[in-house]
Amino acid sequence: MIGKVREFPKEIMILEAIVRRFPADDYRKADFEKKLYRKLAGYKGEKTLDYHLSQIDHSEMLILQDLRIPINDTFFQLDTLIITPQFLLNIDSKNYAGTLIFLPEFNQLIRVQNDIQEVFSDPILQARIQASQLKAFLKKHHIDPPPVEYLVAISNSQALIKNPDHDPDVSYRVFRSSFVAYKIPQVYQKYPKAILSKNDMKKISRHLIKAHQPLIPDNKTMNLPLDQMIQGAQCPSCETFGMDYRQGNWTCNYCGNTSKDAHIQALKDYFLIYGPFITNRQFRELTNINSTTTANRILTSLNLVYNGTNKGRTYSPPKNFFDQ
Ligand SMILES: [Zn+2]
Repeated sequence: MIGKVREFPKEIMILEAIVRRFPADDYRKADFEKKLYRKLAGYKGEKTLDYHLSQIDHSEMLILQDLRIPINDTFFQLDTLIITPQFLLNIDSKNYAGTLIFLPEFNQLIRVQNDIQEVFSDPILQARIQASQLKAFLKKHHIDPPPVEYLVAISNSQALIKNPDHDPDVSYRVFRSSFVAYKIPQVYQKYPKAILSKNDMKKISRHLIKAHQPLIPDNKTMNLPLDQMIQGAQCPSCETFGMDYRQGNWTCNYCGNTSKDAHIQALKDYFLIYGPFITNRQFRELTNINSTTTANRILTSLNLVYNGTNKGRTYSPPKNFFDQ
């Protein structure tokens, strides 16, 4: 069964909002686009593994997706943790494209793509470090750690995986996500003895879920050009900003498309970029609505959380506001 489900990362939502509204002539826009692309690829890789895992019988396992656990003033992250009676299994997913050459002698992963060679940090070493951090966490919570196994799942089906030294550890630990149904039985063979009861498994899961702290990036550290971010409601059809609001409808001046709720995306972007408070005046500046009454009517209709009265009133996103 699945004990913790992967959620769409807040970090990606924030990056999407930033990229959408970043001034086009600012050279730093490309950096945010690259970062967003990388994070999206990683998330897609994790979801691919989730899909393949959902296809196998996992009734005797506890699967925890996406854990970020504090330890010794830092955090360790586990993409996928599988708790079984015999062992704990940490699977780190990678969605790298291109040719992936594993060189374990110096813990290197070389990626060759479009004739460009890059050195990546060794995901096997990464997964191994995560496994030791997990053991340390369990010891800290007075749980005798069972064997902790670690694997690396390559989710990009276009990747060409190479192990030129025929290193047995690489052959065993690196696998394609689509192979997971056959990989897990190999781990069971290695650890045939059941050590954990159902209660032990639940206890480990409970401790980890309780300690989990999702990453919420601090926009202040990103040095965003806040006063130059693009304002306005965005046309859902042609993506031009600055739709006009007339009698309950947003109209695009460029393509003529209309929308009933283009202000919702604008408001989400605002909260993601500027933080979780907006006043009536700020909302009017964001959406180019002139009338305080109209702005008030729209803000009130969205069931936002509000504080204060009159001009000082601020509106904040309620729980689940960012769920699609
Ligand atoms: Zn349009």
